[in-house]
This record gives sequence, structure tokens and C-alpha cells, in this order.
Amino acid sequence: MPRLWNEVDPSTQSIQGGENSPNAVQGQSSEEPELEPVHLLPRSLIPFTPYVEKETWLPTAWANMKLDSRGINISILRKWMMVCTKLHGHRCDWERAGAGPETTGPKFLIDVDNMKLVPSEPGFRYVALSYIWGAVPSCCTTLENLSTLLEKDSFRRLTIPIPQVICEAMELVQALGEKFLWIDRFCIPQDDGPEKQLQLNAMGSIYAGAWLTIFAAQNADASQGLYGTRKVFDAAKGFPPRLTSTQKVKSNAAKEWLTNEKLILRNARTLMCTQWFSRGWTFQEHLFSSRRILFHDDSVGWECQLASWHEAQDLSDLLDSDIPFLENEPVGLHKMVLSPWPDMFRYARLVSLYNRRALTYPEDVSDAFRGILLLLGRSYTGAIISGLPEMFFNSALLWQPWFPMMRRHPKGQSKEDAVLPSWSWMGWSGDMGSESWATAYSYMRPTPGRGLSGGNISSWRTVSTVEWYYSETFEGKRERIVDSSQEYRELVNKPSELPQKGWARYRDNRGNIFYRHQTDPLKDFWYPIPIMAAPQSSNSLINARFIHGKSRSAVFNIGQQFSSQSSNCDAVDLISEQDNGWAGFLRLSLGRDNQRRVRTETCELSAGHLEADTNGKLIFDEWERPGCPRGGYEFYNVLCVKWRGPPGFRTAFRRALGRVEKSRWDAVATEIDLTLG
Ligand SMILES: [Zn+2]
Repeated sequence: MPRLWNEVDPSTQSIQGGENSPNAVQGQSSEEPELEPVHLLPRSLIPFTPYVEKETWLPTAWANMKLDSRGINISILRKWMMVCTKLHGHRCDWERAGAGPETTGPKFLIDVDNMKLVPSEPGFRYVALSYIWGAVPSCCTTLENLSTLLEKDSFRRLTIPIPQVICEAMELVQALGEKFLWIDRFCIPQDDGPEKQLQLNAMGSIYAGAWLTIFAAQNADASQGLYGTRKVFDAAKGFPPRLTSTQKVKSNAAKEWLTNEKLILRNARTLMCTQWFSRGWTFQEHLFSSRRILFHDDSVGWECQLASWHEAQDLSDLLDSDIPFLENEPVGLHKMVLSPWPDMFRYARLVSLYNRRALTYPEDVSDAFRGILLLLGRSYTGAIISGLPEMFFNSALLWQPWFPMMRRHPKGQSKEDAVLPSWSWMGWSGDMGSESWATAYSYMRPTPGRGLSGGNISSWRTVSTVEWYYSETFEGKRERIVDSSQEYRELVNKPSELPQKGWARYRDNRGNIFYRHQTDPLKDFWYPIPIMAAPQSSNSLINARFIHGKSRSAVFNIGQQFSSQSSNCDAVDLISEQDNGWAGFLRLSLGRDNQRRVRTETCELSAGHLEADTNGKLIFDEWERPGCPRGGYEFYNVLCVKWRGPPGFRTAFRRALGRVEKSRWDAVATEIDLTLG
């Protein structure tokens, strides 16, 4: 079943967005390779997927996928670095763009000329490595061996073997003419608790600060090398002899002709199928890196903020060309970060893409996403509370699974410190349905060709009915949560009031009023929201375990189970105990281990309504259930919970989320003091 955004966004039909594009689905001839799943990715996700939507060299020219049988030519990598420097300049740099997530940089770097650790200094140009540790134990820096590793040639004298991927990365960095390399296991002393945490917190800025990142996506284990079944050679030092046919390496890459554009799409697809791509920590490592050399599929690719290239492409004329690289805008996170307004649409998709990835220690969910939260938080008012922006808190609480999700339980040594609340997506692993945050981004007016479509502001609204407070412990200090989006949405009905300078009002050809702000004149808004004059230097990231509020609860019978029309989960009807009438529904979060229950307790989170809406059945699981009002539907957002803890510390935990029709709820709900954990 297609996701909602495929249905509402015609531009998702192809990455190029047009029916005449060579990649349009219908336009494919039978001999051309299938390009799923990248090909079907919605445009809104593209800024966060590797390789695509960047300039490739002569997109319609043909490239032969037959790889050089002598191995990977390091001269090609040097050429990419040179072309990026010459044609793109500092626009491929995070720090120069003033967009670095934090000022914290690496504490140590490996000096590959002298094979030792050195304390890092501001201004050092370094290369970072992104790889999978794997289960094989091997050496790392500790407080005990730190002074030894600071001595010249210490890496040559180590008694415990260095993982192969790291040895090869060191050699490669030297061959590329670079001096410093950052690798987590050596540049962060692994037994220095507080310092290690500081460096883990700064992971986003460490990758953003690297001039180049090498991605070891070929293998799932550090004990295996960078290059797969191929070797490397440096054409500047002479060519190795061509291999005989019996010596030729096996390559996953098919020996066929593709246009440059399709070659890059294929490259994206194979990277997205690697184990490296499935890991949680590598998500922000990839997003934050300015320039990327990626090893996967027995081949190597390049990606910077403005271009994607593959070793099979002939770039020999590139420097002499008049292709207007300098007019291109950066894409992806770089661009989003520069946005002065909070982009909940993209944030929802980032969460969805990230939360399906695997973490060895589930409690790392916050740390491995921290760089992204810090960056995005700069354009939001208020804090980010356990992954939910305070500014849109009531809507953000309504996250729903797209596929069944599993509760996260901590596994590491410091599990007591883990913060994995059931009311946040961070407490669950799996694919979040990003449309479930649609009422949070209702200020965004679809701009043709820019990811959203549709003619009017959605009538689906979320209205606060509970005053929420958060706390780190049950009895800890409770702080009020301020959902400022509520007051801004009201401005739709009061077009004369503009909250801030810089806004201008327009009317479209249907008579709808919309707004633009001078900081981003290409973006349309249905109503004004706060725009940061300058990005906040740092917003507060709060790890709260509990939220509290005066709410209401009610018990319903559980009715028939049905397939959700708007997700890949199951749902159940909620039936009134009084007259057996349809009252509402719950989308079931868990996959297999749902216990079949007869009755369930639900708690109120907020209210909402939807007028007759043609998109209703795509958004609302219950739309076609007998009894569901399809026009002027007023409801409460309710959480099905289970209670734990002794009297006085009773805490409710999320089981599932749904809606109950307003009059049915008002007839039976009773007030409670609710603490969600
Ligand atoms: Zn570049």
C-alpha cells in the first residue's frame, strides 16, 4: 500500500519530478534496470538520502559500469577532492557556512605521517571515518595507553592488532595528501566516562567539522577492509599490470551501460541496502559530513553538498566545462539548517528515517540523534523534550507507527540512566508514520514542486485540553510545557494580526490568504509562525522521563480488529459500554505480541476535529468504520495505557493511540491526575 505522501504528492512519481524525465516510472523501457526503492522515494525524503538530487556530471551521458579490474584508482579520489575545492569552494563546508551544530570539536586526531595521536587544535583540517565497530574485540585508546599513543610511530608498535578497516583508512588518508584522521575508538579514550560523553554529544559537530569523511560501508565489521574484493592503486605512481581473466575480481556491479543519472541512482540504492546504512549511529555521521568518499558494492563514490560522482564516470572534461555548479544551492540538511523557520514536515521524515535503524544499545537513541536535534532546535522556540519539540508538543504527542514498532529497553551498563519514555517515539524502535504529525506542520502551504501539494489548509486540527508538565524523575521538579503553535494557528481566523515584522500577506486564485516572510521569500505559509532573526545559539535538549497533567480517562470495550487504511498496522474499534455504539478506535503499536483484551482504559491527550475532507480516509484509520462521522468529526486524541508503580507513584505507559468521538467521550470520561512514563 502506498504511503500517504505518494498519494498526495505528484512530484513523488519520479525523482526528477516530471513525466518526461528519463526516470519517470511510466517512461521506463523494459531493458532499463528497475530502480526501486530509491526510485520511488518521495521527493520530501530525497534531501536525506545519499547521492540523489545533486549535480552529476552530464546526467544523460552514458557510463560503463565495468569497473577497473586493476582495482580502485586513488587518483580518481584526489581528482574529486580537487574539483570540489575548485568549483564548489566553501559552499560544501559546514563551518564556513556558519552552520556548524556546536563548537565542540575533536579532542585528539591521528597524525598519519607520524603514526601517533596528537591533541587537536582549532583550524586543523582532518578526515573522519564512519564504520561499523562489529563484535570483534580490538585495540582502542584508554587512559592507560594514551601517553604511549602520543609518541611518534606508536601505531606501528601496537601489540594488539589494529582493525583492517582502520589500517587501510590511515594509508588512504596519507595517499590523499591529508595529515589528520579522526576515528572514534582512538580519538576518544574509551574509559574516560565524562570526557567520552562530551565527545559523544559533539559527534554531529565532529563529522560536520571534518573536511572529508571516509565511509566504510562495504562490510559489517571493522576487521574487514575498506575496498571489498578489490585492491587499490595509485595511477600517479604508475599503473599495475592488468589482471588476467582468471585473476579478475568478482564485482557486484553489473557490467552494463547506464546514463550517469541512473548510475547515481543505482549507487544510492546499493548504499541504502548496506548494513552500514541500517545502523543508528551512522545516520547523523552521514548527514553531517560535508564531503563523502563512500566505499560500497566493491566500488567507490563521491558525494559533497553540490555533486555526486561514481568511479565509473569519466570526469576528464569537468574542470574545463561551463556547467554552472556555482549557481546551485546546497541541499539536504545543510539547506534545512539554514532555514530560519521550524520545518516540522522535514523533521517528521528525519525521525521516520532514523528510528527504523538499529542501535546495539537502545538507550543511545537520543545521543545518536543529538546533533540533528541541536541543529533543528535552533529555529524552534522552546526546548526539544525527549525528541518532541515543545513548540508543537500537543501535535507531536500524536505520533503513530507506520509499521508495528517495538518498545525500547536499555541494555548497557548504565541502564538506570536511560531515558526511554513510552510517550515519545524515542521509547520505541521502528518506522514512525510521519503523516501523524500533519497537524504540527499545518502552517506550511504546499509550494508547487517543493514537496507538498494540495489546495487548502487542512481542516485537521489538534487543540490542547491538558496543561502538560515534564520532569526527569517522578518526584522531580515539574516544568510547564508551552505549546506556542496553538496561538499561531488562531491567526488563520484573524488575518489582520501579524505577530512579527517581515511578514507579507497574499491571496491565491481560490481566494485563500497566505503569507511569506522576508527571510525565505520562496516559502508560503498558511499562517505566520515565529521566525528566528538569527538562529538560537543552542536550544535546550531535555531528557524527560515523565509528563504530567490533569486529564480524563474512560473505559471502552474493544471491538473488531481491522487493517488500518492509512498505515501497515492493525487497528481496533472502541465500543461504548452503555449502548454498544461505535465510539472510536486505536491503532495498535505492537506487532506480534498484542494480547487480545476485552476492555481497555484510555486517557485524554488533547482534542481535535476534521471537517469533511477528501483526504480523511488517507489520514484517519477509522474513516470507513460504521459510526464514524465523516464530516464535522469532533474527537479526543486518546492513549490506551497500562498502569505500573505503587500507590502515589502510579504511572501510565503508552500501549496504543487513537481517537474517540467527542460526545461519546464526554458522556463517560472522569477526571484524573495523569503521569505518563
Ligand atoms: Zn563540493
